[in-house]
Amino acid sequence: MQKFVLAAAATLFSSLAAAAYPDKPVTLVVPFAAGGPTDKVARDLAEVLRKNLHNQTVIIENVGGAGGTLGAARVAKAAPDGYTLLLHHAGFSTAPALYRNMPYKTLDDFEYLGMVNDVPMTLIGRPTLPAANFAELRKWIDANKGKINLANAGLGAASHLCGLLFQQALGVDMTTVPYKGTAPAMTDLLGGQVDLMCDQTTNTSTQIEGGKVRAYGVTTLKPLTTPGLAKLPTLDSQGLKGFNVTIWHGLYAPKGTPKAITEQLNAALRAALKDPEFIKREEAMGAVVITDARLGQAEHKKFVEAEINKWGPAIKAAGQYAD
Ligand code: ASP
Repeated sequence: MQKFVLAAAATLFSSLAAAAYPDKPVTLVVPFAAGGPTDKVARDLAEVLRKNLHNQTVIIENVGGAGGTLGAARVAKAAPDGYTLLLHHAGFSTAPALYRNMPYKTLDDFEYLGMVNDVPMTLIGRPTLPAANFAELRKWIDANKGKINLANAGLGAASHLCGLLFQQALGVDMTTVPYKGTAPAMTDLLGGQVDLMCDQTTNTSTQIEGGKVRAYGVTTLKPLTTPGLAKLPTLDSQGLKGFNVTIWHGLYAPKGTPKAITEQLNAALRAALKDPEFIKREEAMGAVVITDARLGQAEHKKFVEAEINKWGPAIKAAGQYAD
C-alpha cells in the first residue's frame, strides 16, 4: 500500500513538473569551446527549440576540454529536472574506449532525447602551407615527417578521430595539438601555428568558401552538394580508398529526468528539426538534419550503443588512451 502511494505520488509529481515545464531558462551544455562546430549547431538549435518550449530562453554553456567528457560529466551530474541538457557529437560514443577513468556511464547516466544531424568532415591546412592540393600535400607530408602538427579538440573529439584515421591511412605519425574545441584550433590554423586539422563542415565551410584555409578533401564517399563545398573532392577519390567519416549530434538529459519532460523535449526537438530556417542553416554548412527513426528516444540510444561497439575495437587496436 505504502509503495503504491509513493509510486502514485511520484507519477503525480512528474506530471505536475512537466505541466509547468519549462518555467525558467533551460541550459544547453556544449562540451566544446564557443564559436566551434558543435557550438554553432547548438546555438541554431537553441533558437528553434525555444519556440517549442513556451518561448523560454535556452542558454548555451560551453564546457570544453578532454574531448567533450568534461561537459558531458557536468550534465550527467546535474539535477534531472529538464533544465540542464547536453548537445554532444559522435565523441559521446568513442570516449568509453578512449578514457580509462570515465566520469560518467554513457548508456546509463543519460536520457536520450533524439538525434539532431549528420555532419561530414573536411581536411584543411594552414593558408601558408605550400601544398595546394591533396597530391601535393602527400608529398609535403613525406618530406616533413616528424615535423607536422595536427590540431584537434582533445582525445575523443571528432577532429581527433578523423585525424587518427588520416594518420593510419597514410601510415604517418603527426604531433597532435589538443584544444578545448576547434574554434580556438581554427584561430591557430589561420595564424599558421598548426599545420593541419580535420574538422566538421559546420566549422570549415565558411573558411573554405572564403579561401582562408587550404582545403584538401571531404571525408564522405560521395562529394557534397553544398554549393561552397561541391568542388572539394573526396579523400576516397584521391587515394585514401574507403575513407569515410561522418559525425552526428544528439540531445541528452541527466538520467532520471521525468518521462513527461523527456517526451516533451523529444516533441520540441522533432518540431525544431522541421523548421525551414534551421534546415536551411544546417544545409548551408554541409550538415544534414535527421529525419529517420533516430529521432526517437529508443532508436537514438540504440544507435549510440551500436556506435560504441563499432568504434571501441578500432580505437583499442590503435592503442589510444587517456586516464
Ligand atoms: N569539432 C570539434 C571536434 O573536434 C568540436 C567542437 O569544437 O565543436 O570534435
